[in-house]
Amino acid sequence: MSWRTRSSLTWLRALAGVKADETLASRTSFGIGGPAEFFLELGRPEAIEKAIEGCCQRDIPYLLLGAGTNLLIADRGIEGLVIRVVNREHEIEGTRVRAGAGLKMMRLARIVADANLRGFEFAIGVPGTVGGAVYQDAGCWGKEIREVLVSAEGFVPGAGKQTWDPPALTLGYRTSALRDGALKGALVVSATVQLQRGDGEEAKRLMAKLTRERSETQPIKTKNCGSVFKNPTGDSAGRLVQAAGLKGAREGAAIVSTLHGNFIVNEGGATAADVRRLIERVMVEVKRRFGIQLEPEVEMVGRWK
Ligand SMILES: Cc1cc2nc3c(=O)[nH]c(=O)nc-3n(C[C@H](O)[C@H](O)[C@H](O)COP(=O)(O)OP(=O)(O)OC[C@H]3O[C@@H](n4cnc5c(N)ncnc54)[C@H](O)[C@@H]3O)c2cc1C
Repeated sequence: MSWRTRSSLTWLRALAGVKADETLASRTSFGIGGPAEFFLELGRPEAIEKAIEGCCQRDIPYLLLGAGTNLLIADRGIEGLVIRVVNREHEIEGTRVRAGAGLKMMRLARIVADANLRGFEFAIGVPGTVGGAVYQDAGCWGKEIREVLVSAEGFVPGAGKQTWDPPALTLGYRTSALRDGALKGALVVSATVQLQRGDGEEAKRLMAKLTRERSETQPIKTKNCGSVFKNPTGDSAGRLVQAAGLKGAREGAAIVSTLHGNFIVNEGGATAADVRRLIERVMVEVKRRFGIQLEPEVEMVGRWK
């Protein structure tokens, strides 16, 4: 039976601040995707928790949105409620830092450097939020968030507020219990990381250097979603795509970057269908040439059929 009953729709329409048919493309780094059927932007954890609890009670599908830097949203948009999580507070106590899930990792990297803390420089390479980073153990330059994470505070519909230590989150390379396991649908409210005292100016110099070097090898200033595919064990997805002769391959306005094979760029006006066709073409070709099954790192969400 569909969730779309008169009482569910009345409940959704009565949510404070809710918008119907709200554009999502501009809220993603790809700049692609149809609208959210219903959309809320919320900063107070209690308000987010109440909204997702209400959705679960009524079987209304919902999606938590961070900075939209790892999502390919279908051209026909997203059914149900999309909640953009924007709690951006942070607290520093000695060398421990607690940050709201809606705070951008890059911003937090600069905040902690200003506080003369080290060990978070890798986050300057992750344009998503703290919540999105915990969701799939984001990382860069060989360091992942699990290496500094002490705990994450969260909310599970039906079970309430919880605090998870890293083992409870089963964090691994671009995976976690939130993305692939028992905590699917749960909300990350905030995360606490353990850093070390150090020279903040040195941290800023390192971050500037890493960013400069990266912009020479990856099209980070274009409309994209970062790495499209996870790296297969012992290999690199970018190398495989290049070796398959797919750099520059195109579907509509979506193109495999000529700078880095693991990036797909929206040259302007690409549809989600263009990108998805290109992803599937790359997967088929890499499998045919090398027998390796690439797995998308980007999440494809919404109404595809
Ligand atoms: C130019 C570029 C470079 C990138 N480089 C890297 C890199 O080096 N390393 C890397 O790991 N990633 C990289 N990414 C990908 C992306 O930044 C990360 O995957 C990031 O963690 C996604 O966070 P987000 O806030 O954008 O999440 P979104 O894309 O908004 O959402 C992704 C998933 O996270 C879930 N989610 C978001 N917030 C919460 C929350 N509070 N609670 C529960 N679930 C939540 C969403 O429901 C969704 O399923 C890059 C992306 C771009 C565009």
